[in-house]
Amino acid sequence: MKTIVLEKPGELRLTDSNEPADIPEGWAKVRVRRVGICGTDWHAYRGKQPFFSYPRVIGHELGVVVEQVNDSKSSLKPGDQCAVEPYLNCGKCVACRRGKGNCCVNMKVIGVHVDGGMREHIVMPTNKLHPSKKLSLDQLALVETLGIGCHAVDRAKIERDEWVLVVGAGPIGLSVIPFAIEAGGRVIVMDVSSTRLDFCRSAMGVQHTIDGTKVDPLTALRELTDDELPTVVLDATGNPKSMMNDFDLIGHGGRLVYVGLFQGEVTFNDPNFHRREMTLLGSRNALPGDFDRIVRLVEDGRINTTPWITHRVAADQLVETLPSWLSPEAGVLKAVVEF
Ligand SMILES: [Zn+2]
Ligand SMILES: [Zn+2]
Repeated sequence: MKTIVLEKPGELRLTDSNEPADIPEGWAKVRVRRVGICGTDWHAYRGKQPFFSYPRVIGHELGVVVEQVNDSKSSLKPGDQCAVEPYLNCGKCVACRRGKGNCCVNMKVIGVHVDGGMREHIVMPTNKLHPSKKLSLDQLALVETLGIGCHAVDRAKIERDEWVLVVGAGPIGLSVIPFAIEAGGRVIVMDVSSTRLDFCRSAMGVQHTIDGTKVDPLTALRELTDDELPTVVLDATGNPKSMMNDFDLIGHGGRLVYVGLFQGEVTFNDPNFHRREMTLLGSRNALPGDFDRIVRLVEDGRINTTPWITHRVAADQLVETLPSWLSPEAGVLKAVVEF
């Protein structure tokens, strides 16, 4: 079957591999049809993804069709279209036992720690497949990306009409925004790209944006929030400078959620942290329940994924096409590979 392997940084190869021969009990074999490319994949391609080993079949944002089910307890049938929860958790560790399989001690994300979905067929545990009768294959492939934002917003426990600052309007920030709006937050988005901020206003329904290159963020936030500052800040930049700066932008009693991550130390001034009685939260992956909830929200039209996909390519052309998507001028928001 057609398979795309990331041999080493900068080197993708289209090759052939054997179809999965057996389907373990409780698993299903699926036909992969759409694969979204996200920041993790770009980092892996550039050789900047920590804990990543090569060669690897990448791809963890998948729209698939069920082919064969080896699970008498599952209601899945051949032909069902599904979003895939790509997090293989152990079910036994301290996090899993407490319902937090998203941060399993022994986490294996397909396409990152083990081979993923850039091939025609894979096998997955049936409970990691989230079907929808209404969503398109494109929409199904976006569910995992949305899960990152959904879980981060759940971590923040946003209250209605609370000021919420989303820092960074890349793909992760974009996955945060619709859930922050859905939770009733008064959302402000800050970025250093006017194009991205325009997109947030025109396509995502964001009313307030701050261009960090043009105005002083703290002053702008004070003006917007009647001097109180947002009580929720979700940082989706993965940029250490931004992440440390957040401590100054947050209102007293507020929560700061780190959605994006970087390899290094975060430092902050303790009196600044204590005076505010701030809560600092990490957010990793998403929970199984998030997937079903997102499927329903997209089905009901409460989240519109249409504007997201800016680039598309057939699997046969990916190897030649991908390098041209690397420059910022390419304007890639979300690229999708068709299998
Ligand atoms: Zn992703
Ligand atoms: Zn576990």
